[in-house]
Amino acid sequence: MIAHNFEYTVATSLGEAVNLLQKHGGRAKIVAGGHSLIPMMKLRLAAPEFLIDIGRIPELSYVNKENGKIRIGALTTHYVIETSDAVARGCHALADAAGLIGDVQVRNKGTIGGSLSHADPAADYPASILALDATIVALGPKGERQIPASKFFVDMLTTALEPNEIVREIQIPLRSGRTGSAYLKMAQKASGFAICGAAAVVELDGSGRLSNVGIGITGVGNHAFRATDTEKALNGQKPAPDLLKKACESAGKGIIALDDIHASANYRLDLARVFSRRALEAAIERAG
Ligand SMILES: Cc1cc2nc3c(=O)[nH]c(=O)nc-3n(C[C@H](O)[C@H](O)[C@H](O)COP(=O)(O)OP(=O)(O)OC[C@H]3O[C@@H](n4cnc5c(N)ncnc54)[C@H](O)[C@@H]3O)c2cc1C
Repeated sequence: MIAHNFEYTVATSLGEAVNLLQKHGGRAKIVAGGHSLIPMMKLRLAAPEFLIDIGRIPELSYVNKENGKIRIGALTTHYVIETSDAVARGCHALADAAGLIGDVQVRNKGTIGGSLSHADPAADYPASILALDATIVALGPKGERQIPASKFFVDMLTTALEPNEIVREIQIPLRSGRTGSAYLKMAQKASGFAICGAAAVVELDGSGRLSNVGIGITGVGNHAFRATDTEKALNGQKPAPDLLKKACESAGKGIIALDDIHASANYRLDLARVFSRRALEAAIERAG
């Protein structure tokens, strides 16, 4: 289908983009990689009157390691994240997620800021972003705001961003000592989106016990969530197959699972249990 008519502006800075968003109110949308917004416009699920292209602001694409954090610019593509040494060393679960997104064309154009802001319930990054305790830095008319990942994903296609706010950066705290993380998914065969994706982050203390366990799950509910009961059951314990299996029984506890042509709610909840255990096993192996 053909999209509605719209006016197109290339923003040269993030400040200019925020001003344009404010000027046009709810009639404008930011476009970054265009790999979620343009299909939605062609399907007429979105019909902005003004498109503000931030995709050509060069200083928004970077991966830096600084002050105990990995800092990733909003316009960094999935491919850059997939292949970044700093990301692989500091937060492997994010590199895993980036490498599993769509196909090579999507990974070359799609951006992390666009993916997080779009908040597709089947998107890959949110599981890793939650497990890794990331912070999303947004710029709006009142200045900058830091949003913890745990507060960012609010509902299907809905985030904690205010209408005139733009994601500028994603910050991931680096952990020290024996630590590892991983992301795995069961993909929908045609689109590649996650029917269930699970990310796990672990630390192992001197006696080999688990601490600061983080588990994020995507694809199962309206939005990605943390498996907090599973995390609690694992902290302070020595990893063993029976323990992991038992702890992951509660991975989808309290979640109203999506139920559609791709998978039933019960199947998704079962995948949450299986994939959180597999992601934990992979994270523990990397920590070791
Ligand atoms: C064929 C195909 C397969 C795909 N498979 C997968 C998959 O397996 N897993 C997966 O996770 N994703 C998948 N995607 C989605 C892909 O990852 C998109 O790139 C991503 O979801 C959106 O990023 P973008 O930069 O293209 O955003 P855009 O499409 O440009 O924007 C998406 C939304 O975010 C807003 N936005 C963009 N940037 C910002 C910003 N910095 N701040 C605030 N709002 C912003 C826009 O206004 C828009 O509402 C697939 C897409 C396609 C076309």
